[in-house]
Amino acid sequence: IGASIGIALRPDHGTTLTELMRAADAAMYHAKARGRGRAEHFSETLAAEMADRSQLESDLRDAVGRDQFTLVYQPQIACNDGRIVAAEALLRWRHPRLGLKLPGSFIKRAEETGLIVEIGEWVIETVADTIARWSRMGIEQRLAVNISPRQLDHAQFFRRLRDAMRVANAPARLLELEITETMAMHCSDDVIEAIAALRADGASIAIDDFGTGYSNLARLRDLPIDRVKLDRSLIEFVADKAQARTIAQAVIGLIHGLGCEAVAEGIETQAQAEVLRIIGCDIIQGYAVAQPMAEDDFIAWARDLPRQAAAG
Ligand code: C2E
Ligand code: MG
Ligand code: MG
Repeated sequence: IGASIGIALRPDHGTTLTELMRAADAAMYHAKARGRGRAEHFSETLAAEMADRSQLESDLRDAVGRDQFTLVYQPQIACNDGRIVAAEALLRWRHPRLGLKLPGSFIKRAEETGLIVEIGEWVIETVADTIARWSRMGIEQRLAVNISPRQLDHAQFFRRLRDAMRVANAPARLLELEITETMAMHCSDDVIEAIAALRADGASIAIDDFGTGYSNLARLRDLPIDRVKLDRSLIEFVADKAQARTIAQAVIGLIHGLGCEAVAEGIETQAQAEVLRIIGCDIIQGYAVAQPMAEDDFIAWARDLPRQAAAG
């Protein structure tokens, strides 16, 4: 048996029992985060972190009701002919005081507090509306959405998703769900069944951030999936290091062996794109193709794409 100890001192870290317990608790979590089996004192830094966290939580609560979220779209293009096969919808937060915030700065907190369920519902409804609106404009575009573990665990998730698609009049075949490798390895049989049903209706399923978690290959084989997205860390050095290329090629072979398409994300250079095309990757996404864009910019970019391709 081991122990992680948090220490708070009166009166520096509080005067009431509640304050002292809260401070000691924060110090104890800090001790755990620093490797467990150690003792940590409460500090000014920890106090500031606690204040930041609770500020972020209350800002997040307001954000949902105040229409502060928006989506940007990043194209995924086929390696063989350069056509757009999908666009990934990525969340942005127009924070009233701090400006535009990236998901890295708030998704984790949204997950911890459960607010991700509400935010995720907004994302799905917005994506369903966007699919339908673009269809009316003559743009048939598959949109991919990122799903958090907390959302999948929520009993109503699949029903709400179907409702949103039906209400917006958006066909399932234009929706793609991205679930992370770690999530895919841990979700329950019920969730897998619901994913399979959605896929049977025409939606496609992608495994995100592949190569960052631990995959059980037998389980991967049995999952109802269409695409596997290689994490940036797997493809970062494909243009510079023979070993990185060999590994990426083997992983792409594995993905094809599962009957799936391989998508490489975070492609930043033409050299990476070229290597990936040669080693058999099907789809690429990244700054080398285009940045995530606001809706209007994405539409303009997509309209312009055939002309760019013709110009070489
Ligand atoms: P992800 O799903 O793996 O998304 C790819 C991330 O890589 C995006 O970051 C994208 O902007 C970034 N990226 C694209 N091309 C490049 C490139 O060439 N180089 C580099 N270095 N990065 C590139 P972003 O938008 O900051 O999102 C980060 C993560 O937040 C996403 O990773 C996803 O896990 C999560 N996320 C985004 N939107 C949502 C959402 O609506 N719901 C949930 N639950 N999570 C979301
Ligand atoms: Mg993603
Ligand atoms: Mg990813």
